[in-house]
Amino acid sequence: MEKPNESSMATSKKGDETKAATAADTTSKTENNPKSGADKSDKSTTEKSETEKNSGKAAAQSTADSKANGKAAGKTGSELDSNTDNSTEDEDDSEEKPLKKFFLDALKDIYFAEHAILEALPKMRDAATTEELKDAFEDHEIVTRKQIKRLEKVFRNIGEQAEKKKCEAIEGLIKETENIIKSTPEGTMTRDAALIIAAQKTEHYEIASYGGLVQLAITLGYDKCVDLLEDTLEEEENTDYDLTDIAESFINFEALNDDAEADYGEDDESEDYEDEAYEEEYDEEEYEESTSYH
Ligand code: FE
Ligand code: FE
Ligand code: FE
Repeated sequence: MEKPNESSMATSKKGDETKAATAADTTSKTENNPKSGADKSDKSTTEKSETEKNSGKAAAQSTADSKANGKAAGKTGSELDSNTDNSTEDEDDSEEKPLKKFFLDALKDIYFAEHAILEALPKMRDAATTEELKDAFEDHEIVTRKQIKRLEKVFRNIGEQAEKKKCEAIEGLIKETENIIKSTPEGTMTRDAALIIAAQKTEHYEIASYGGLVQLAITLGYDKCVDLLEDTLEEEENTDYDLTDIAESFINFEALNDDAEADYGEDDESEDYEDEAYEEEYDEEEYEESTSYH
């Protein structure tokens, strides 16, 4: 059973700090983003040049780097569909190399994550209070379906089967989102403010993942994969900015007016859920096994 997302930073000033401190390193480098503030530009420049020196580094490398490689942004669905070249890019001897294997594992990880997110988004939409946030989750569901297809194309391009590999991080993020839904009163702006933060945490995980994948694809010489992965990276970044926008334009402010008697809905269930999770996590036998040193 999948759980919803979570994210950071919906709040205005705080949000910017969070952005600077997390996967948003990537975000901050996006040059075409109207919402990436001037405060990030210095950091951007420094990190960018470092990345250029180390194009093989996996962590949170950004769109700006990719742009330096002449990539276009914002392709439409039909442009995506028209990319039907079935030739593979993996015709050299890199098959056995650890970096190629790592790239493939990372693809499988995000392929798993996208499916988990796809399952969580309708629950997040149902839990949201405002039409604006419901629409944002609905739109991202459509985008996520497209991203899954795009990942399948990436797998094909390197001559591999599309496969999922369990991503513990996304499961944790989704579990947190479910807990947020249970711990915020239904029908309130507080619920939406919290959901936005949860969703943004997920977006940042995706941004870091795709940023790294783009750079690895460049390093490995998988040019077609670079284009595909960059398109998705850009969509995740745009989603992140849109969520910030919704939060800052009115949701956070209106959440101040939520009253204390709001309805917590399914709160009763959350206790059971936590007990269950606790038992699962702290199975006594397993615990003893893992702590005995003989
Ligand atoms: Fe995605
Ligand atoms: Fe993961
Ligand atoms: Fe996303």
